Amino acid sequence: MAHHSPLIGTVVAGLVLAFVFGTLANRLKISPLVGYLLAGVVVGPYTPGYVADQGLAGELAELGVILLMFGVGLHFSLKDLLSVKGIALPGALAQTTIATLLGMLLAKLFGWNWSTGFVFGLALSVASTVVLTRSLQERRIMETERGRIAIGWLVVQDMVMVLALVFIPAMASVVNNGTAFDVSDLAQTLAITIAKVAAFVALMFVVGRRVIPEILHYVVHMGSRELFRLAVLAIALGVAYGAAELFGISFALGAFFAGMMLSESTLSQRAAEESLPLRDAFAVLFFVSVGMLFNPKIIIEHPGPLFATLAIILIFNPIAAYLIVRLFGHPISTALTIGASLAQIGEFSFILGGLGLALKILPQEGEDLILAGAIITILVNPFYFVAVTYLKKRLQIIDRTVLTKAPPPPEEPEEIPETSLTNHAVIVGYGRVGTILGARLKAENQPYLVIEDRKQAAETIRQSGIEVVQGNAADPRIIKAANLPGARWLFIAIPDGFEAGQVAEQARKLNPKLDIIARAHSDAEVEHLEKHKANFVIMGEREIAYGMLEHAFGAFPAEPQPDNSEAQPS
Ligand code: AMP
Repeated sequence: MAHHSPLIGTVVAGLVLAFVFGTLANRLKISPLVGYLLAGVVVGPYTPGYVADQGLAGELAELGVILLMFGVGLHFSLKDLLSVKGIALPGALAQTTIATLLGMLLAKLFGWNWSTGFVFGLALSVASTVVLTRSLQERRIMETERGRIAIGWLVVQDMVMVLALVFIPAMASVVNNGTAFDVSDLAQTLAITIAKVAAFVALMFVVGRRVIPEILHYVVHMGSRELFRLAVLAIALGVAYGAAELFGISFALGAFFAGMMLSESTLSQRAAEESLPLRDAFAVLFFVSVGMLFNPKIIIEHPGPLFATLAIILIFNPIAAYLIVRLFGHPISTALTIGASLAQIGEFSFILGGLGLALKILPQEGEDLILAGAIITILVNPFYFVAVTYLKKRLQIIDRTVLTKAPPPPEEPEEIPETSLTNHAVIVGYGRVGTILGARLKAENQPYLVIEDRKQAAETIRQSGIEVVQGNAADPRIIKAANLPGARWLFIAIPDGFEAGQVAEQARKLNPKLDIIARAHSDAEVEHLEKHKANFVIMGEREIAYGMLEHAFGAFPAEPQPDNSEAQPS
């Protein structure tokens, strides 16, 4: 039976081994990515034992890419995209061109011709969507200016890829058949491709923008969580597939636009939450599928070319990106983040490598170099972000005071200024619970400030005249800005009791006397929060029950306890 289920075999082997190696990596305090990639190498064709289906693994990984880009789109409005076009468009084009030219130069050194070099260079220039978005999400910089630039950059690279996939076969037929370039034919094909992309974008903005949120609103009113989840998946996958089949656009770009159409809807947050578990599972399979492609022989057989390939991705790509971003007048922190984001290659490069090989314009060695380059740079990439954090601090000081005397970047300052409030209340999370708290504090003339994670919500709160620190309260920099040592109360009004525990733990360290009032939704969360020294923990569901009973019978003299009589001996 197992022999006839390559799909199940691939999913199971991929997930189980990724889990085992990911856990191991975590225990060894290294990124779980290393574990996922290793899992791929183990189930890949170049190591003994079970070999998973490479084609299927690649397709499953594609599902991960779709869901990831859908999720990115959900937090990205058209306004966000347009706000970075000034840098993302020329920046991505320039960086892609530089890397492609360098790749062509390298290819010349290997004795390959210019067309091979073009495919090879292009493959070394395009970053992986999965790796990039994961890095940004992990570091919570997706919704910052630099996060937006990185995503804009990615979208431009994706568009370049759409065109390249049309151009390369035409180029291959010229090279292989020795015919002359049919310029008018190629121009026509490219024009059709661009028209298709434009048609897709227009369709999404005219029709999708209205229809997609409407579908979700319709479904949410049906009250079925299952159907809502299904609707989110159907929209993400359906639009991505339709975009690819009908408009020749990549799945990723299609999904990104589908997500973006929802970003202004009130349901975007919920849609993101519903697609999260599947997204994570398939993103893991992406890394497994990358690991499967890796042939360790390349390291022994072609160390020199591999080294040069890695140099382009790890050194020249980030330097080019850094300089371009700086040239456009953006702060060092932005330039460093963009540079680090682009110091890796992934799925686009595999597509180019595979296409080049199929069209016989890229030798096997070229594809092997691309694959090895991808796996190694994906492994190295997290260290770039660690280095960026360190470098940013050092360089910014030099940049501001010695070199350019540039004013500190207006956006995303490293140190969030601390509030001047004292004897105040702090509300963490300004949703259904936090807003009620805020209204009462205002009525009591009690000064307070809000910590709110969602950028748009934080902006609205600020506009209504309330002091707000935007960010995750579990982040020490954010919590520090709230001056907890000088505060009276901390209301942790966020729905995740375990995340609230992290906030409580830090707050207690900062102020042993602070009155911490926290929200929970389960007994486990209550216990967790009490363990982290919250003074008063309210379990939402219990209060709902009391409220209902009070409506029916009036106030209770004493709190009724949960009825466990059936479980207890009478
Ligand atoms: P509600 O469940 O309607 O009371 O909304 C909770 C609010 O808390 C939302 O606006 C979230 O964006 C916000 N929130 C959730 N987690 C955090 C966090 N760790 N730090 C700051 N705000 C948060």
